[in-house]
Amino acid sequence: MDIQKIGIVGAGQMGNGIAHVCALAGYDVILNDISQDSLDAAMTTVRKNLERQVSREKITQADQDATLGRISTTLRLPDLGATDLVIEAATERETVKQAIFEDLLPHLQPHTILTSNTSSISITRLASRTDRPEKFMGFHFMNPVPIMKLVELIRGIATDEPTFSACRKVVERLGKTAATAEDFPAFIVNRILMPMINEAVYTLYEGVGNVKSIDESMKLGANHPMGPLELADFIGLDTCLAIMNVLHDGLADTKYRPCPLLTKYVEAGWLGRKTERGFYDYRQNPPVPTR
Ligand code: NAD
Repeated sequence: MDIQKIGIVGAGQMGNGIAHVCALAGYDVILNDISQDSLDAAMTTVRKNLERQVSREKITQADQDATLGRISTTLRLPDLGATDLVIEAATERETVKQAIFEDLLPHLQPHTILTSNTSSISITRLASRTDRPEKFMGFHFMNPVPIMKLVELIRGIATDEPTFSACRKVVERLGKTAATAEDFPAFIVNRILMPMINEAVYTLYEGVGNVKSIDESMKLGANHPMGPLELADFIGLDTCLAIMNVLHDGLADTKYRPCPLLTKYVEAGWLGRKTERGFYDYRQNPPVPTR
């Protein structure tokens, strides 16, 4: 199956990165969101990130122009009907994702492959509510998409081989490496990463350390490039909480209990970098720890 046109649902931090790498690899991209502001912000970010790649001589000015020329945006989900592959990258909430696929189905061509960039939600369950579970799978990019080399490909129980190999070819054309994961809560990367971040929040909650000492300990003591709280802010605390809830519900083990302090930050709307405040306050430069 030859994929040429890719539809992306959700133009947030992941959606804009996915649009960037797909268009740079030569695919025609149509990017959808419910908010015009998100679409505008996404295109500004893509342009800025492409400019940075040009200034570092990773790509040429002609590549940048061609890439931007291959991305169109729309507020209308039915406009994605003519695509060969849909990558859903909307908010990490199952009801949101389910509604998107339901609304999209009547407009799709029979051959269109559906995928979700979900960090944790069951691919098999999302697939079972569509008319094409065999053409449905998980297509999980890492953040920031233009830089991170890995894509987790997750087969649902019904995903067929042509669908899997078509997606693997896309990953190769993007110049990235695919890791195959089975469809269990949070797959591979987040199954390991999120409990570590959650434990860092417990360490803060219990007063074992403060934001600075926890992040410095893991950077200098475990050679991590970013501290776990800094990384949580980067990912989005709402996304981190959603993933911990999926692990807790899906694996029914108390070791995945989300830290109450993480819940409190999310309730406050302190979601990390995207809202300018999380474990750090980004309204000041350099960012100031909030605890
Ligand atoms: P985000 O909050 O930055 O963006 C979500 C976007 O979805 C917003 O622009 C919002 O307007 C849009 N949206 C909401 N409902 C919609 C709908 N019905 N139709 C179209 N658009 C809609 O979130 P994000 O960090 O980009 O995460 C998106 C997805 O990617 C989630 O499933 C998340 O789990 C996954 N993911 C996130 C990361 C990360 O580090 N943030 C990494 C890998 C995967």
